[in-house]
This record gives sequence, C-alpha cells and structure tokens, in this order.
Amino acid sequence: MTRTPSHLFYQGRQRRPVLDQARGVYLWDVDGKRYIDGSSGAMVCNIGHSNPRVLEAMHRQMERSTFGYRLHFETEASEALAAKTAALLPEGLDRVFFVSGGSEAVESALKLARQWALATGQPERWKVVTREPSYHGSTLGALAVTGYDALTDPFAPMMRMMPRVPAPRAYLDGLDPSDPATGRHYAEMLRARIEAEGPDSVLAFIVEPVGGASTGALVPPAGYMEAVAEICREYGILLILDEVMTGAGRTGAFCAAEHWGVVPDIMVLSKGFAAGYVPLGAMAAQGEIVEAVLDAGGFLHGYTYAGNPLACAAGLAVVEEIERQGLVANAAARGGSLLARLRGLMARFPVIGDVRGMGLLTAMEFVADRESLAPLPAHLNAFSRFVEMAYARGLIVYSRRSRGGYAGDHVLVAPPLIATEAQLDEIEGLLEATLEEFSAALAPETV
Ligand code: PLP
Repeated sequence: MTRTPSHLFYQGRQRRPVLDQARGVYLWDVDGKRYIDGSSGAMVCNIGHSNPRVLEAMHRQMERSTFGYRLHFETEASEALAAKTAALLPEGLDRVFFVSGGSEAVESALKLARQWALATGQPERWKVVTREPSYHGSTLGALAVTGYDALTDPFAPMMRMMPRVPAPRAYLDGLDPSDPATGRHYAEMLRARIEAEGPDSVLAFIVEPVGGASTGALVPPAGYMEAVAEICREYGILLILDEVMTGAGRTGAFCAAEHWGVVPDIMVLSKGFAAGYVPLGAMAAQGEIVEAVLDAGGFLHGYTYAGNPLACAAGLAVVEEIERQGLVANAAARGGSLLARLRGLMARFPVIGDVRGMGLLTAMEFVADRESLAPLPAHLNAFSRFVEMAYARGLIVYSRRSRGGYAGDHVLVAPPLIATEAQLDEIEGLLEATLEEFSAALAPETV
C-alpha cells in the first residue's frame, strides 16, 4: 500500500496503520482490522479504552475550564485528585505534585530529593543510586538514573551518570527467589555501593518495585524490598519508588509497595494513573520533606501544564473507575490466570526461558538455551520480530531487550485491568500461534 509521506517522526521510519477507534480492550484501524490490546498500549490503558464515565467527566470539566495556571488559580479537579491520591497511597505520602508524564514525575522526584538535602543541611548528598537494568524515563535527568546502556551511552557525556547496583535477577544467577537469603544478597549490594560511594554523598535510591520494560516484569526476591527500605533508613537515604508502570492497580495492589508494606519517601506515578486519557503523572512525597523544602524558600521546579484541570478531572475519573469496577482485585485474579497460561506456553515452547510477573504485569523471556539461559543472538532481533508477528495476527504486545539493552529478549503481556477470562483465552491463543511461527522462523537461524 502506498502511503502519503508523513511529517511526523518518532524513533524510526516504520509506518503503522491509522487508528480509527478503540473500545475496552480492542482497537480498530481505518481498514476495520481489530487488535486486542495485550499490553495496554505501553502498560498505560489500565481501565480500557473509551470508558464512558471518564469521557463524561472530561466533558464536564471541558465545559468549565480547560486551563487555569496554577500560580493564578487553584482548581477543584486538581485538589480532588490530590486528596484522592493521598488517600490511596501508603501512609504519609500526602503531598502531591502533578506533571504530564512519567519522565517529568521522575525529574520532579530527583529535584525534590536534592532540595530536601539542601534544606536539611546535607548539601554533600547528591548521588541517586539506581539499578541495572532499569528504566526511569527519557529526559536527561531521568536517563542519568536509568540503567540501560543502549539508551544512555549516546548521551553519557551530557549527563552525570549515577551509581548502579545490579537488579535482583535471581533467575539468571541461579538463586531461589523465594528464599529470603536471596533478597538479602541483592540488598547487601546496595549497602556495599553506598559504602563505596561514601554514605554521606548518597541522596536517594530509586527503584521500580516490579521491573518494567527494561527487565521484563522482574519480581523482587523475598525480603528484598523490605531490606532495601531498611538500608535506606539506616543511612538516612531517601527511597524513591518509581511506580509509573506498577501504580494504579497494575500488579494487583493500588501501588506495588503495598505487597511488601514498604513506605517510600517519594513515589512517582503516571501511565495507568490517567490510563491514556490525558498526559498526566504525579509525584507524591512525605509531608515533612515537602514542608522542609517549602520552609527553605520553595520548590524550584515546575511545568506549565502541571495540574492542568482537564488532566486532573480525567485522572480522578480513572481512579474512581478503578475503585468502582474493583479493578485492583481483577488485576490480581486475572494476573494469576495469565501467569499460569504463560507457564503453560513455556512448557510447550523451549524458546521461553523464564516467565514472571505480578498481577497483570507479566513477561516471558526468550533464550537460546534453557539450561544456561544464554540469550538468543542479538542480531536476530527476536524481541521486535515477535511483536511484529503478533501484530500481524491482531495481538498487541510490548517487547524490549532484557540484558541491559544490547542483548536478551522479552515480551511483556499486560492487558487492561478490565480483561476477562474470555479475553485472556483470546490473548493466549494468539500468543500460541505467534510462538509457533516464531519458533519455526528462529530454528534455522539458531543452529
Ligand atoms: N518510569 C518507568 C518505570 C517507566 O516505565 C516509564 C516509561 O515507560 C517512565 C518512568 C517514563 O515515563 P514517560 O514515558 O511517561 O515519560
């Protein structure tokens, strides 16, 4: 098909069909082809597409005002969403700063943390320890705390790269993730890094409680989250939880921190928080951190669109839908079923070397060899080939490199939290057919 040249550009030259409409877990292109959204876009559309209550709430807000600059007006929408967010997050995270996406939320967290250190007489604290692999966003600040060399290498001279510790990939290290000794083993790496950096120079530790695109839904081993929280407390280091992907019910709790009873100093949300209806993210912080910064002269940070009333009205309606439909519980129940289905596929397809996840954030990692877990040859680009094969069948899934950006392949399966068992049947059937085609295509290339 000949296409009119586009003035748009994003990552590359690939063209995609033109979207016509989207409803629930399905999308249709202008030629009428239907796609099932097996990854909620980029793990965004938690409540599904075109929810009428959210559209109605947006409409009501649009008729009142679509913009009110936050230095000129407070808005009922942003006040209501801040109050709702504070009520849903772990204890004490009761001050909320709105932004327009995940990277902005991470930037905001880094800058609030730094200003807290200055405000409390600790100017030597500036290092933010991160994990490798990890992904915290595409702006230069968020990228400096991202452990994914393929994305960071080109920009390294322009950034102050931050110290890294290994993500707790027990499956690759041959360790038992259910053994608390495994959790302690990886948490002690954080302690060692803090000691090596000089404890007084470390400001914060940023972590995705369940890994996102960079690790492929990595679930922390037993005891890990509690242990890293304890180490941060011991050294007076702030714990920043990046719940951009895991928040808003995705893992079967409103935020993943609840699974371990961990209370961070700062948490960031986006993606499912507004479920794709508008660009929105949030940074929530413990009250005393915010008060210290405000007492010291104010938070030197802001975005023009921060706290936009239309975005906040949509976000509030999304969160209300998550509650009204019981989507957190559905994510937990359907997540268990999805994981079991992926394990069933793993039993049939040797190319799957690991299946993991929590709630409706799940992944399968491809390998060349089950025993050694050696990755497939990188030049095969297995991660993107699988996505294209699934897409041709009308299944949307999301994939990335698993081993730090240059090697390894995983596919995230993360449908909207409204998904039913029948829709999981459909996703499983399409995954199975795709895996058959994928395994057959790879076989001659991997001998
Ligand atoms: N943090 C995590 C864990 C993410 O998964 C992402 C995006 O994928 C971001 C931050 C950045 O969010 P955004 O793409 O909205 O800027």
